[in-house]
Amino acid sequence: MALVTSTEMFKKAYEGGYAIGAFNVNNMEIVQGITEAAKEVNAPLILQVSSGARKYANHTYLMKLVEAAIIETNLPICLHLDHGDTFELCKSCIDGGFTSVMIDGSHHSFQDNIELTRKVVDYAHERGVVVEGELGRLAGIEDAVNVSDADAAFTNPAEVEEFVTKTGVDSLAIAIGTSHGAYKFKPGTKPQLRFDVLEEVEKRLPNFPIVLHGASSVIPEFVEMINGNGGKMPDAIGIPEDMLRQAAKMAVCKINIDSDLRLAMTGSIRKYFNEHPDHFDPRQYLSPARTAIKGLVKNKLVNVLGCDGKA
Ligand SMILES: [Zn+2]
Repeated sequence: MALVTSTEMFKKAYEGGYAIGAFNVNNMEIVQGITEAAKEVNAPLILQVSSGARKYANHTYLMKLVEAAIIETNLPICLHLDHGDTFELCKSCIDGGFTSVMIDGSHHSFQDNIELTRKVVDYAHERGVVVEGELGRLAGIEDAVNVSDADAAFTNPAEVEEFVTKTGVDSLAIAIGTSHGAYKFKPGTKPQLRFDVLEEVEKRLPNFPIVLHGASSVIPEFVEMINGNGGKMPDAIGIPEDMLRQAAKMAVCKINIDSDLRLAMTGSIRKYFNEHPDHFDPRQYLSPARTAIKGLVKNKLVNVLGCDGKA
């Protein structure tokens, strides 16, 4: 098995009413935790790398980690650039072996977003690589992407057909109320997503894969593990899992998860150090972190995304 694009995954996910998990990776333990979970439940996977993660871990290391995961699991895995913000960055990932890139032109005007996205699509498609575009702006912070609540905007369904037709993108990220980071909804408020916007998009783009960013559920178990072991995270509310299940049954074919991985890893490392203050072997505290990621991802694949057994 070699790296694959998401084309086949999305087609089956759309027809089957489930979604593919797109998990952010930046080191070996995270890659191992995610891919071991997927292997156990036979799920297809998208592993994604932000520009920040690529700077942190280096392109070649990430490529080789993902190639190793394919050899070990024999699963269909798509390697995706998350939030490419320039043509040059997308080109560099395409030239370097990624099978999918996102060009996020959502901070530009509608016309400039179309123009930039079209340029990436032309380059990518000539080389067998697929492209995700974005319309609408999510609030929150994710590596270099920082959008204040005031600047966030739901996707305007009236724009999606023109955008997809003129750019030729293979999938589209939309903003319906999810956000980047661990603080998605204020404590005491009820999380809400604009399913009406999703429905309207789905009507206008039949059989077209939609992507949800910022879709971590901020699992309380891991927030408590952080705060119960010396951490100081403010109360956080994520996207309820039943909303993600609903989205997966609709046109949403790719659900991005990053913050939940970070929380699971940090929580288990904090717990480990609290219980073993005298230990200093990284293998000792990274093992439970990897196991926590594996457990978390397995639960997402089986109980939230519904993509188990679909590889
Ligand atoms: Zn995102």
